[in-house]
Amino acid sequence: MKNKAMISQWKRTTQNNYGVPTLALVKGKGLVVTDADGKTYLDFLGGIATNILGHAHPAIVKAVSKQISVLGHVSNFYAHPNALALADKLISMTGDKSARVFFCQSGAEANEAALKLSRRTGRVRIVAARGAFHGRTMGALSLTGQPAKREPFVPLLKGIKHVAFGDINAMRRAINKKTAMVILEPIMGEAGVIVPPADYLAEVRQLCDAAGALLVIDAVQTGMGRTGDWFGYEYSGIKPDVITVAKGLGGGLPLGAMIALGKAAEIFKAGDHGSTFGGNPVTTAAGLAAINVIERDSLMKKAVKFHEHILTEVALIPGVKQVRGAGLLIGIELEKPNANEIAQAMMDAGVLVNAANASTIRIAPALIVTQAHIDKFIATFRKVLTDGN
Ligand SMILES: *Cc1c(COP(=O)(O)O)cnc(C)c1O
Repeated sequence: MKNKAMISQWKRTTQNNYGVPTLALVKGKGLVVTDADGKTYLDFLGGIATNILGHAHPAIVKAVSKQISVLGHVSNFYAHPNALALADKLISMTGDKSARVFFCQSGAEANEAALKLSRRTGRVRIVAARGAFHGRTMGALSLTGQPAKREPFVPLLKGIKHVAFGDINAMRRAINKKTAMVILEPIMGEAGVIVPPADYLAEVRQLCDAAGALLVIDAVQTGMGRTGDWFGYEYSGIKPDVITVAKGLGGGLPLGAMIALGKAAEIFKAGDHGSTFGGNPVTTAAGLAAINVIERDSLMKKAVKFHEHILTEVALIPGVKQVRGAGLLIGIELEKPNANEIAQAMMDAGVLVNAANASTIRIAPALIVTQAHIDKFIATFRKVLTDGN
């Protein structure tokens, strides 16, 4: 079946919540994907920052194939070695031996879990950032600070205040002794790859400590090595109470986690929360395999190195106003609000990126990206911007 036929089947079979895609992808290897017409693309979006090792990585294929042939699913009535090993690994990444992990499938669910955990403090008020994205389920949507996504679904959870991201005075005014939790992305991904001032997280940490509020870091998009460290907040030197991860965690398979640190690790009691698929042997096998490769091949160091190169080169392209982000999560702000047209032109030219907002192109390539891929991206982007402006 060709692209066109698959798009009409999409229209016939699926609900209209996403709008209609223009492309159907049928296979991928590394950073190259192939559409239903046989055309290949360089994938610089990576399933929205999810395919941390690209497509069909041999380590993931091997780990998943082996596990599914032995034991596919056990539910949370039983322990399984992969979930335990991955939990241990995540705990070691936090640097806090007392941290404890809850597994789920997605970013929204990880944040739902954090939200429920915060309710168990006996407080209900929450502070989040304007423009932040924390997911689409009703609880996560209540945390999300984007009016267009929220308004059709009011009333949402009460007691959640959204303040300007990066503005410590606004945060100071919003937090008080009734605040259960503050939730922040280290870098706001969906909002257009927005980086806060360097001391922001540390100052928010102090405010949370003074008020006795939990600080939840939503590392769903920044996490798993993408920004050059495991969760995206480490540069700040803070210790969060909760970290949520998903996207890159399963190496392309659906896997999320809510990690509670320190005293927060003891808040949930038996029966408080659950997920039938959470910690599934196959998805956690993929997660372990991904982490092994990231460590073995020093991919976080490479992400930082490539970041510098992309920043320098892309900033020189006429039509680019600003390049920002960390590691391989990069927002390119254009001088004109034509990011949608530019993303489409990039696709036509054989490179997948997306428009995070009207004037920002987001790239989030797999961490296995090479210098040759990056050169191709930059050359295509330069040409598309030159033609399109
Ligand atoms: C994508 C994203 C989510 C939601 O993840 P889903 O898996 O789509 O539910 C939450 N938070 C952040 C920061 C995200 O980027």
